[in-house]
This record gives sequence, C-alpha cells and structure tokens, in this order.
Amino acid sequence: MKTYSIAVVGIGKITEDQHLPVIAKNPRFQLAALVSQRGISRPGVPSFRTTEEMLAALPQVDAVAICTPPKARHAIARTVLDAGKHALLEKPTTTTTAELTDLIAHARKTQRVIFTTWHSQYNAAVEAAKELLKGQRLAKLHIEWKEDVRRWHPGQEWIWQAGGFGVFDPGINALSIVTRILPEPVFVQAAELTFPANRDTPIAATLRFATGSDGEQADLTAAFDWRQTGPQSWNIDMTTTEGRVLVLTDGGLKLAVDGQPKVTGSLAEYEAIYDRFAEMLDKDESDIDPAPLHLVADAFLVGRRVTTDKFEW
Ligand code: NAP
Repeated sequence: MKTYSIAVVGIGKITEDQHLPVIAKNPRFQLAALVSQRGISRPGVPSFRTTEEMLAALPQVDAVAICTPPKARHAIARTVLDAGKHALLEKPTTTTTAELTDLIAHARKTQRVIFTTWHSQYNAAVEAAKELLKGQRLAKLHIEWKEDVRRWHPGQEWIWQAGGFGVFDPGINALSIVTRILPEPVFVQAAELTFPANRDTPIAATLRFATGSDGEQADLTAAFDWRQTGPQSWNIDMTTTEGRVLVLTDGGLKLAVDGQPKVTGSLAEYEAIYDRFAEMLDKDESDIDPAPLHLVADAFLVGRRVTTDKFEW
C-alpha cells in the first residue's frame, strides 16, 4: 500500500485539533510540510510561508490539505492542482459556488483528485439515518444548530468578514448531514438572516425548505444561532410521512428512532476523512459534494436581512 506524502496549508484551530494528529496516526500518510503565513513549525517538518514556496521545494509531495478560512481556498487549490498535486478541501469548500464549479473542472483538466470534505457526514449515526430514510418521505424536519460563537471561534475575525459565512460556518455542517441523508433534495424556500449592526455576516438564521415532491406540504425548517450560552444544540429532528421519528443529536454522533437510542458513535470524523482520502487516491477518484454550499448560497439569495445588536468579543 502506497504512503502518500501530504502538506497542510493553514495551521489554525482545525489543523492543530484534527489534521495533524490524525495524519500522524494514519500509516497511509506522511506529513511532508506545513505552510503557515505566521511561520508555525513542527520539529522535523519543513515549514514554508506560501504554498508556491512549498511546492517548488518539495516536488515529491502527493497531496495538499487546504485548511485555511474558505476565502483563500480557491486560489490555493488552483495552485496545488496546477502543480500536479491532489487537494483535500476543508469545509466550506469555497466561498462561492462558481469557485467550486471551477475547481471541479480544473481537477478534471489536470487529472488530479479533489475531495470536498464535510466532516459531519462521517458519523455512523448519520449513515444509519440515511439507510432508514431510504424510500421514505419527510413530513417534518427541524434542524437546531445553536452554539456559543465565543466558545468555538474565539478571536476568529474572518468569520465576521464578507465571505466568512458567519453562523453558516457551523450551520453548513448540519446542512451537509441533511443533504447526505434525505431521500430527496431540499431547496431553500425562504430565509431570515440576522446580522449584527457592526458585522458583515449573520449571527443567526432561520430557513424554510421545500422538496420537489412535497411542495409546501411538508414542514421543513432550520434555526441556526451563535448566541447560545449554556448547553449547546446540534440536533436534527425528522418525522416521516409514515410517522417514524428520527432524531440525530450531538452533531450527528447519536441517532434515536421513535424515542429509542439506535446508534451512539464516537467522534472519529477526521480519521474517516483521511481513510476515505487514501482510498480515493488509490483509485484516482475525486469525491465532490457541492450540495451543502448550494443551500447556503441560496439562503443568502432568498434571505431577508434583519439587523440586531452589535457583536463584540
Ligand atoms: P483558524 O483557527 O482561523 O485557522 C485558519 C488558519 O489559516 C490561520 O491560522 C492561518 O494559519 C491560515 N490563514 C488565515 N487566513 C489565510 C489566508 N488568507 N491565506 C492563507 N492562509 C490563511 O480557522 P479554523 O477554525 O482552523 O478553520 C479553518 C477552516 O476549517 C474553516 O473553513 C473552518 O470552517 C474549518 N473547520 C473548522 C473547525 C473548527 O473546529 N475550528 C472544524 C471543522 C472545520 P497560518 O498563519 O498558519 O497560515
């Protein structure tokens, strides 16, 4: 089995929490380099200030994990593909849908693999829910994704800048679960986006969805909020037209069916992501899921804007 040499770009919270420890324990990958604007380094691992410098110095690198904020991702991914390397894209894949379309075409043209990772999809309970929903129709869906921005994104200014996604940065995780498990696609029918008076991205959002077949008959909604202190809520409640109730909690770690616990997983999303990436590289196949980004983009397209109190850290 081949071991792939991988570089990581953007040495922030998710790289420190997940990418570096998970790469270190996966025998299919070898950490070749870090790319850090601030010059973050690790003993025995070369560090570069730019992706271009890293690619020029280390032509043997097979793949690059791009773990920057979304706004930087498209340009870096282009550079990586042009250098003949495979690209793993952190979520959200890109800032705009057209950037993602461009990367898909460019990966085909350069014959390189790209992987649009959506970490919340990599849970046993999510897969179990998908199986149970096969052939079903939903009468009701409610996503409640409410967390404390100060706890999960301390000091991250990019989330408040245009293109930074605001509350959709976590919200897109819920949408990535829904787009994976629902038996038919949902569309955003209406949205209300609540912006702090001094910020360019929303702190809260409510969405109403429809499906092609259900029209307005099904009750399909989402509520995202970054102002929740105390217990945090990452829940998806679903009722099928046959009356079966599926509840995913803890961000997709647990599934209950008709009030009974069905699956309780342990958190190993990034382990599964890197196993999947190795499999894709072995087969020379991309794995591209644009659906979560489309829903967020559509929420911005149809959303009504509401202004609320200024946000300060
Ligand atoms: P972060 O802590 O702000 O780290 C991002 C890092 O990217 C920065 O520390 C910086 O590292 C680099 N960077 C920033 N701006 C850049 C630019 N313009 N060009 C190139 N590099 C830049 O953010 P994060 O929480 O790790 O999030 C990064 C991505 O992972 C986001 O898309 C986020 O949605 C996703 N994600 C985050 C979490 C989480 O729990 N935080 C979970 C899952 C996914 P250097 O100074 O080292 O270059």
